[in-house]
Amino acid sequence: MLTTFIRAVSLLGVASGAALFAQAVPAEHFIADELRPYYAHTGFSWKIDSISHFELNYESDTEAARRITQLEEVALRARSSILKMLGEPDYQPTVHVFFVESVERMKQLIGSEVIGRSRPTQHAVFCVVAPFSELSLKHELTHEIATNLWGPAEQWMEEGMANFAVDNKSSLMKRQCLAMMQSRQWTPLKKLVNAEWESSSLSPDEAYPELGGFIEYLYETYGVARLQKIWKDGRILREKDSYAGWAEQVAEAEGAPFLDLNELAARRYEELGPQKTEALFGDPHTHTSPAGAEVNASCVVAALKALKDDPLAPYFSEKARDVPPAGDP
Ligand SMILES: [Zn+2]
Repeated sequence: MLTTFIRAVSLLGVASGAALFAQAVPAEHFIADELRPYYAHTGFSWKIDSISHFELNYESDTEAARRITQLEEVALRARSSILKMLGEPDYQPTVHVFFVESVERMKQLIGSEVIGRSRPTQHAVFCVVAPFSELSLKHELTHEIATNLWGPAEQWMEEGMANFAVDNKSSLMKRQCLAMMQSRQWTPLKKLVNAEWESSSLSPDEAYPELGGFIEYLYETYGVARLQKIWKDGRILREKDSYAGWAEQVAEAEGAPFLDLNELAARRYEELGPQKTEALFGDPHTHTSPAGAEVNASCVVAALKALKDDPLAPYFSEKARDVPPAGDP
């Protein structure tokens, strides 16, 4: 454990930050540009605890200073639990955690009255140290790690995942959900699970347990690989207001035959289940493997055969002849 003392420097912008820090920080201690405003913030005087994967920043004579060894463990444990949940072997970047004493101090430092905040592009996480800081630290670390490994997701998914990470295998989330149902404060999932939902639009107490529970359901039912696809691509495969829906509208307007391949493939994947479906993709998100291409081709044949009077019947190959026409959903 390496502890470095950093003087609060408020002249950033007047003089070069690098030159100022050279006086206070050992030469080998590099501070990224985007983190300098926090270190240089007026009224804050940071100590840095460098451990593997983390730099934990705290101030002298604070709860964080007294509990720093425990907070190290909390951070490391949260990190490995999150990686395990995501099915990822490693996370390279060093995460900079800033522990503050209160919501007021948080507001001074980052401008928001919150108990936790993550800024994944800066690898910075902010956390009020309180009895529950284990939970909020893990929540914010989930944003940091998932967003950097998988890319940014729609907000409902980001928050659902962070809450699932925290409440996984605990009954707290379930009890909160149950209480909301009993008091009829349940928000319809449709309202939460859409691209427009923002975490500021409802109180976290209302929305987060429900979203966490929904992610738990997806995770347990479909597995992490499918969850990653939703993370990347948005909510639903059969998205009628994207290009697949437009194709159908054009076909209808022009009186042209329409093959609903999106629907057929989705049904086929559901029949196969998540594990077998996984084998049909060559990459995590979009492109099929040769086996997946065969499944898609047989969907095309099935759809063609379902057209009125089966107009292409004379042209099918021997292999295609065995494919039954697609039925109604
Ligand atoms: Zn969050």
